[in-house]
Amino acid sequence: MGPKRELKFALESFWDKKSNAEDLQKVAADLKSSIWKQMADAGIKYIPSNTFSYYDQVLDATAMLGAVPPRYGWNGGEIGFDTYFSMARGNASVPAMEMTKWFDTNYHFIVPELGPDVKFSYASHKAVDEYTEAKAVLISELKAAGASWIQFDEPTLVLDLEAHQLQAFSAAYADLESTLSGLNILIETYFADLTSDAYKTLLELKGATAYGFDLVRGTRTIDLIKSNFPKEKFLFAGVVDGRNIWANDLASSLSTLQALETVVGKENLVVSTSCSLLHTAVDLVNETKLDDEIKSWLAFAAQNVVEVNALAKALAGQKDEAFFASNAAAQSSRKSSPRVTNEAVQKAASALKGSVHRRATNVSARLDAQQKKLNLPILPTTTIGSFPQTLELRRVRREFKANKISEDDYIKAIKEEIKKVVDLQEELDIDFLVHGEPERNDMVEYFGEQLSGFAFTVNGWVQSYGSRCVKPPIIYGDVSRPKPMTVFWSSTAQSMTKRPMKGMLTGPVTILNWSFVRNDQPRFETCYQIALAIKDEVEDLEKAGINVIQIDEAALREGLPLRKSEHAFYLKWAVHSFRITNVGVKDTTQIHTHMCYSNFNDIIHSIIDMDADVITIENSRSDEKLLSVFREGVKYGAGIGPGVYDIHSPRIPSTEEIADRINKMLAVLESNILWVNPDCGLKTRKYAEVKPALNSMVAAAKLLRTQL
Ligand code: GLN
Ligand code: ZN
Repeated sequence: MGPKRELKFALESFWDKKSNAEDLQKVAADLKSSIWKQMADAGIKYIPSNTFSYYDQVLDATAMLGAVPPRYGWNGGEIGFDTYFSMARGNASVPAMEMTKWFDTNYHFIVPELGPDVKFSYASHKAVDEYTEAKAVLISELKAAGASWIQFDEPTLVLDLEAHQLQAFSAAYADLESTLSGLNILIETYFADLTSDAYKTLLELKGATAYGFDLVRGTRTIDLIKSNFPKEKFLFAGVVDGRNIWANDLASSLSTLQALETVVGKENLVVSTSCSLLHTAVDLVNETKLDDEIKSWLAFAAQNVVEVNALAKALAGQKDEAFFASNAAAQSSRKSSPRVTNEAVQKAASALKGSVHRRATNVSARLDAQQKKLNLPILPTTTIGSFPQTLELRRVRREFKANKISEDDYIKAIKEEIKKVVDLQEELDIDFLVHGEPERNDMVEYFGEQLSGFAFTVNGWVQSYGSRCVKPPIIYGDVSRPKPMTVFWSSTAQSMTKRPMKGMLTGPVTILNWSFVRNDQPRFETCYQIALAIKDEVEDLEKAGINVIQIDEAALREGLPLRKSEHAFYLKWAVHSFRITNVGVKDTTQIHTHMCYSNFNDIIHSIIDMDADVITIENSRSDEKLLSVFREGVKYGAGIGPGVYDIHSPRIPSTEEIADRINKMLAVLESNILWVNPDCGLKTRKYAEVKPALNSMVAAAKLLRTQL
């Protein structure tokens, strides 16, 4: 995206027709050349091209192969911006292609549509063009290396592949053998260990001259390498973490590399990052607000390439002693800093182990007790939390942050916004209200800013999709909650209505998965600490008279490890962390949770094990996938609200359409557990879309109530 999201702004201005294709290409060319120069200056020897993308790398590959779905009306020839961006984002008449998450990251790619009708052709010369471009820019640096290296990214090899899949993999490379000969071919894997079968397949690949491994996340791969590595091949050792923001422990990496050198030979060992630097922040120099101590613990992409070079130099006998010494000092300051450790938190978190933290009463009895208090109609209606975030609202928050308006003025403005949202929901006749989250810019950052142990960047942006970026908080120390975070806003909102108002929190697993997490203790330890902080908040909300509390776990599924053997352990501590947050509430307090992505058939038992009273889930793109779980006989006793319309699209659904979807759900789910709600928060929509859509939703629920 560029150090200051230059690509984002160029894209959005191009889409808004405020600039032309040439302007966009110019920004892209500048970004590419500055990255190539940066790597060359850092001493990186093998500089990759074709790593830049106008939208998404997988979409680029789809375009290169001409696999354009017919609905985009492409008639062959080189694929231009029109077709490319229509596939990515849709256009006036055709929706976009499906988007989904890249492995276990928060990056989204555009899913290729491959079927028997697709005719492959060579339809985008981007890879060649960019190579030529890079060569022109870096001609002198490239001369030494020649254009003799090509990298193939094959992270799919870290998954649990079956024998026939591994065979297909080998066969594909066997087909390429003659094309690849004369070139150095690097097969790069990342994000996890390799199974020994995958490793064996890799070593036997026709045409490969080098292999790249993620030695940060794939800690067991090193044993495979030590037990067997072909003599004449290169090893690209990914020792510098490309997925996190912590400075590398150079001394420890150097000793890993030295050990590997004895296995693969001096000439054949290449120092590398563990994966591409797409998933980390760009450059630490733009961080003006972090203090020097914390800054010394960090390394963003620009610093990662310097680390790679320092390690390579040290291996070659030219160790930069001063650089290593300051790195060692930073490592030890991080280990001993009182800002990192909070003994009370450590104690409380370790006391959690050994207990399961389950609410004493079972869910159906709790729902009965809650119904006595809440007195809900059948098919109750609600929304997921946020309401549209207008420009005015963003301005108020920005000015308050910059001390341009007083706290009183800020509170007044937010209260007015909440009142508008409450009035609107009453007018629409929604049963369970929300306050609309106007005080939050982001569902994780908002909580991180109020918890101890978190730090924030100014420019630590990471691409999420297209021009959209996220700025994950950094969890550097033990997490605790100095004071209530949401009680004031939730009780203010509750005081404006007689209807139940949902308290609105982000769950521990989601806060963890959407942050840069400390690497000096296991992730579950950090998650338990966050869970304890959220538990305090839940109990304070209950004390303040909030009877319904929603704890969002939007990213629980995303954190599922790539390897099946690790699923059970993750799900156990993730679900346990969620239960810890609400184990202390009364039976009459109703706990909701919300999850994005309906594709969770494989984890349905863990979802049941979360033991929430009501779960709302994203379901816009596939009723079938979700409902098949229940058709297969999974018993679900808690309340469930599969989203009845897609909030990612500006389209306004009709009453009939929504009623039809609810009817489909009623065919497999009991009417007394079904809730009616949109499939996610409304913050990216406009009021002109939200009002009629919610109106249809409430009308559909009312219509069906008369028919049950
Ligand atoms: N409560 C949040 C909202 O409505 C949930 C967002 C999400 O699931 N991503 O914005
Ligand atoms: Zn959601």
